[in-house]
Amino acid sequence: MVLVVGETARAENWGLNGYERQTTPVLEELGVVNFPDVRACGTSTAVSLPCMFSPFPRSEYTDRKGKEYENLVDVLNRAGIQVIWRDNDSGGAKGVADRVGEEKLYNVTVEGLCNSGGCYDAILLKDLDKKLAETKPDKDIFLVLHQKGSHGPAYYLRYPEEFRLYGPECLSSDLQNCSREEIVNAYDNTIAYTDYFLGQVAETLTSYSGNHDVAMIYVSDHGESLGEYGLYLHGLPYVVAPKEQIHVPMVVWIPEQSARGFGVNMRRLYDSASESYSHDNLFHSVLGLMEVETELYEKDKDIFAQCR
Ligand SMILES: [Zn+2]
Repeated sequence: MVLVVGETARAENWGLNGYERQTTPVLEELGVVNFPDVRACGTSTAVSLPCMFSPFPRSEYTDRKGKEYENLVDVLNRAGIQVIWRDNDSGGAKGVADRVGEEKLYNVTVEGLCNSGGCYDAILLKDLDKKLAETKPDKDIFLVLHQKGSHGPAYYLRYPEEFRLYGPECLSSDLQNCSREEIVNAYDNTIAYTDYFLGQVAETLTSYSGNHDVAMIYVSDHGESLGEYGLYLHGLPYVVAPKEQIHVPMVVWIPEQSARGFGVNMRRLYDSASESYSHDNLFHSVLGLMEVETELYEKDKDIFAQCR
């Protein structure tokens, strides 16, 4: 199972959510289950990342609890599941993967995959087959791919030449030098690149689907302001943050054959996807899907529970 943790992708510019631009054609073609109403736990990576992996809902989560209690990675690891964390976000895993270790791909440079702002997210898939081949064949695997995604303000550095789909783009990290239109164009290109990247993840998983049940969950860590109310970037206190910083895209992709293996009725999942969800659901949904039994599991927060 792969969990892709997105970076700074906001729900408003997500093609599958009805955005005026089709920024997610690959996911559309794949027939993923799209969740249009998902709220993040925080408005920054430092808050959202540990919070979404914690067993606590946002209303009870604190930074201290994030550090002191076992998180999803710890619980899965203890249950005997092989956890692999690959990170392309320069801020790293924010302590979430301390006990299992993270592959810091943001420290790596690969010809053709990187520029002055770091590497494109495709680096997260580099030598992945080799990595997976090293794991014990009888173990279930939980792979986290932590994207650089739409990290600003230098949106234009997040995607290669062939993803310059919308222009003119803002070609500066000093957003004041650009028009709002140029900023949005560059941002939308980052979303289109994430769409391509998720397609590549699905393609990789498909190559394993013959003898494994495979699944992908994607959810962004927080949103982004792109000029609404004169605001840019993210990180405003939650209570005053505009919805653009809180409302995030989420999709689930499970091929039909694997869905049977997981015991998930995909039609029911499609039907329930329009309900309101949040990062609070992630911990319990992953435990539910991977059939890990623990007293921490809360069935009413598992998005798959009603689709069994
Ligand atoms: Zn972030």
